[in-house]
Amino acid sequence: MDADVVVIGAGLAGLQAARRLEKNGLTVTVLEGSDAVGGRVRTDQIDGFLLDRGFQVLNPAYPAVRDWIDVKALDLHSFGVGVIVRDGVKTSTLAHPLRHPRLLSATLRSEYVTASEVFALAKWLGPTLLRETAASRSTSDAALAASLDKAGVTGPLRTDVLNTFLSGVLADASGKTSANLVKLLLRAFAFGAPGLPNNGMQALPEHMAAELSHTPRLEHRVTDVRDLADGVSVETEAGSLRARMAVVAADPVSAAELIGSPAPTMNGLATWWFAAEEPPLQEKFLQLDTSSPAGGPAGPVLHAAVISAVAPSYAPAGKHLVEATTLLGSGKGDAAEADVRRDLARMYDADVSGWELIARHDVPHTLPAQPPPLIDRREQRVSEHVFVAGDHRDTASINGALTSGDRAARAISGILLTQSPG
Ligand SMILES: Cc1cc2nc3c(=O)[nH]c(=O)nc-3n(C[C@H](O)[C@H](O)[C@H](O)COP(=O)(O)OP(=O)(O)OC[C@H]3O[C@@H](n4cnc5c(N)ncnc54)[C@H](O)[C@@H]3O)c2cc1C
Repeated sequence: MDADVVVIGAGLAGLQAARRLEKNGLTVTVLEGSDAVGGRVRTDQIDGFLLDRGFQVLNPAYPAVRDWIDVKALDLHSFGVGVIVRDGVKTSTLAHPLRHPRLLSATLRSEYVTASEVFALAKWLGPTLLRETAASRSTSDAALAASLDKAGVTGPLRTDVLNTFLSGVLADASGKTSANLVKLLLRAFAFGAPGLPNNGMQALPEHMAAELSHTPRLEHRVTDVRDLADGVSVETEAGSLRARMAVVAADPVSAAELIGSPAPTMNGLATWWFAAEEPPLQEKFLQLDTSSPAGGPAGPVLHAAVISAVAPSYAPAGKHLVEATTLLGSGKGDAAEADVRRDLARMYDADVSGWELIARHDVPHTLPAQPPPLIDRREQRVSEHVFVAGDHRDTASINGALTSGDRAARAISGILLTQSPG
């Protein structure tokens, strides 16, 4: 045998599986098809800018992050917990009352906040705020839009703010996502201040990989995983390996190919990265556009943020970095640069014609769709010696990827540590 366990994929799920297996005293080989660890959490360096491959944030309140990641070592720069909303004329800030008490009166004065809708939202979310299991272990679930309708969350806070914000978080504007999943994500936003590591999001998987006794083998794409009587055979373009067990921690579509199961539906986002000579704003909040008369954004941009105001390390001295996020494959057609610039000009009330588009990251497979009912502990053992891990087996998030990797590793450890080695 080459190792006790072969882990296929060095995304967050695969890296957490490998860490846990090693902690439990097992030998592990990690095979990664691409040229670096991280999977969907990668960072490019272009002209002194740090550009994550798709804007995303790390929430230290995720249980898996709190328990297994040394967030201090990542030197996280936190966003403000809330959003700035611009309707084309006026700007309002809606901020977490406990984290930003100085913004409380501005938040309460905002036209988006009415007592009846806040009360309805609190009733809808309250049990999950008190106990995570109220959503994660609930036997009843519904599509987000239907669930909010039923709860009476139907005013401007929903139509202008929540719908827009959540479309960017879920990569889905259909309202068909599991309401329980959304409650869990909102719980994490209520308890944590998401942020960006000083060296970019890829610092997270790199930090995890650095703890392994053997660095993942990069550019080792696995083409086949086969059960044998006493373990598994794993084929790569560079040759084959034998192990007692395997964890397929590839992305949802590649994992489905390797284990011969149907691929899940994936939702996509595009991130537009602009360099600006002057920051349009110094605030650390995500910015939403609510200038459509029907509620929500008038154009394709779901949210924008002055990234260098949050994490100055993301831009070289004297420059500023702005992100804008749009949906991919939304049915309306993908956004055009002119529309994105028009939205940004309206959202920041600024002339953005001089901003340079440094990169556009299209990630059609951003997140697996998670319609109700939420099953956040999907079966991971797919054959005698093969387990699957990844965000598609838990919640579609960093937390879900880490949790599912850990869960697969614990199950495998339980099996292998009670057997004599092969
Ligand atoms: C644009 C964007 C924004 C996001 N925003 C957030 C956010 O704000 N908050 C949040 O919680 N989550 C967010 N996410 C989701 C989060 O990044 C993912 O849920 C998580 O990273 C998934 O990790 P994973 O290990 O399950 O899969 P992946 O990251 O997809 O890792 C799979 C790995 O397997 C490798 N692989 C695939 N096939 C093979 C093969 N045959 N052989 C060897 N290796 C293989 C891949 O190269 C990859 O490295 C976002 C994702 C994107 C793309």
